[in-house]
Amino acid sequence: MSDQIKLLPDSIANQIAAGEVIQRPSSVVKELLENALDAKATHINLIVKDAGRTLIQITDNGSGMSQTDARMCFEKHATSKISNADDLFNLNTLGFRGEALASIAAISHVQLKTKTEDQELGTEIIMEGSELKSQENCSCSTGTSFSVKNLFYNVPARRNFLKSNTAELRHVIEEFQRIALVHPNVSFTFYNNGSVLHQLQKGSLKQRITQVIGKKLDEKLVPIEEQTEDLKIHGFIGKPEFSRKKRGEQYFFANHRFIKHPYFHHAIENAYKELIPDGSFPSYFIYLQVQPEEIDVNIHPTKIEVNFSNKQLIYAILAAAAKKALGQFSLTPSLDFEQEESMSFQFSREKAIKPPSIKINPEYNPFESEKATDPRQISNQENWSKLYNFNEENNETVEPYNAPTSVPSGINFLPETNDQSPSLNNTFIQIGLSFVISSVKSGMVIIDQKLAHERILYEKYLEQYENRQIASQQLLFPVNMNMSAEELSIIQELKDELINFGFDIKTFGHNGIVINGSPTEITESKIPEIIDEIINHFLDGKHLDQDRKLAFARTMARQLAIKYGQKLKQSEMEELADALFSCTIPDVSIDGEQIFKTIGIEEIKSLF
Ligand code: ADP
Ligand code: MG
Repeated sequence: MSDQIKLLPDSIANQIAAGEVIQRPSSVVKELLENALDAKATHINLIVKDAGRTLIQITDNGSGMSQTDARMCFEKHATSKISNADDLFNLNTLGFRGEALASIAAISHVQLKTKTEDQELGTEIIMEGSELKSQENCSCSTGTSFSVKNLFYNVPARRNFLKSNTAELRHVIEEFQRIALVHPNVSFTFYNNGSVLHQLQKGSLKQRITQVIGKKLDEKLVPIEEQTEDLKIHGFIGKPEFSRKKRGEQYFFANHRFIKHPYFHHAIENAYKELIPDGSFPSYFIYLQVQPEEIDVNIHPTKIEVNFSNKQLIYAILAAAAKKALGQFSLTPSLDFEQEESMSFQFSREKAIKPPSIKINPEYNPFESEKATDPRQISNQENWSKLYNFNEENNETVEPYNAPTSVPSGINFLPETNDQSPSLNNTFIQIGLSFVISSVKSGMVIIDQKLAHERILYEKYLEQYENRQIASQQLLFPVNMNMSAEELSIIQELKDELINFGFDIKTFGHNGIVINGSPTEITESKIPEIIDEIINHFLDGKHLDQDRKLAFARTMARQLAIKYGQKLKQSEMEELADALFSCTIPDVSIDGEQIFKTIGIEEIKSLF
């Protein structure tokens, strides 16, 4: 057999390497922004088109490159940042591998314009798939500008792997924000398809966080600070009452780099234990600074995961610092937070550790809109008869009730005997202000009031949506909400569904929306929560390709359904049971839990 092994040409090797470093447009943005920062830029301009598919352009006012460097920078392992392996443990730059530009040039069309301060003329270079197409002198200002066009033009598999523009833009925004949050002394502008997504001036860290995240964050944050010989912690953590329903605004940075660190996350989460309800997440923006040799960033190609040589110690210090920050906030308010603090000052201790309570509006009658006109009489009858077995013609022919597979089997609502059926005018009892109990032929049924009502509303909204029956009302006082750029892009994406569900929403500026109209059933105070939950649901992009109306109906149902702790009148319980058994799927809650259970006579007997 002849020799089989051959060396791959550089262009192919680079393409393969690019797979590791450049997964999507946002990876290009990250690498180019980091290069600009390493070049000590104080202003950076980012322009993307079609979420970066067609164009990513980054212009900086940093050091620029000489003619030779401009050509060299596209070579594999070409870096000015390290020269031997030891340097890896003494890194003060974001890049060091020297493979980003080689990778980007392998899979796109790149134009580079760059000039150093002492050059009169700059250099313009055009690369296509690792090949130098032209190199010329050009006039440009000091600094560097990279235009990356037609990403993955020669790697169709990668191109096809990209998600929708909305999803890709979200990744770009995310990378941009992670970087902008660490460099408050650098000004940034960021355009997508000609419109401004971010315009960030230089300022303090707190100003930067507020500019980037929006949402009046400055009133919601308390400073966290700690310093030991080897570790410096600074940043901000959210006041417990502003914890959110999603894990979004949680940022760790180590030595100017965004990192993910579940272990440290745990330290912070612990500090909030008992301060925030289950299922809520605290916001935090925590900046760690350790000696460069204490940290190994080389374990991950995109450097998001890093290794600390002294994890346990950092954990302990972080946990203590977070507790201290939260404690200080409740006992000794800082000037930043005057108004709120002075009010909550004397109660803050109790307030801080009080478990979450359920708010009930005693006026609210969830059944009002359900009464009378029930188009699903037939299915109601069927479901009731399954439960009560009052099919009068012939009990023998009644099909046994088939519970859906997600409900534990063995529930059979049919009686063993041919007894007469109980009447529908049954008595209902509410226990624990959470469950509704009624007797049925085979024993008793226990209905979870919250899950039942969620299911009822969910099916109702879906039906109304299909029939375009959702009534909308104009709000007397429009509701304003601050939004991050990422959230705004979701609102844009969901425009049609929002309209169809009765919301009238306009965007204003680049970080806000105004809600002028909403479905009639929603009270004004509920609107922000509902919009927030909808955005959160779609924020990670995974759900955008799914049937969106389901998420809308689910959110509205969840928000508007009666809760545990709400007292129900006899008639309301009857309505609830009635409406539940009119549903197409009365057994399973909108989150897949069992809505009601039956306890058979035999089981009851066995208790005695
Ligand atoms: P790395 O950042 O790991 O060194 P890159 O491939 O990203 O590798 O960049 C290669 C080299 O090109 C850098 O080391 C730097 O010297 C130079 N370079 C890249 N971008 C810029 C820029 N915006 N301004 C000045 N020099 C740059
Ligand atoms: Mg780099």
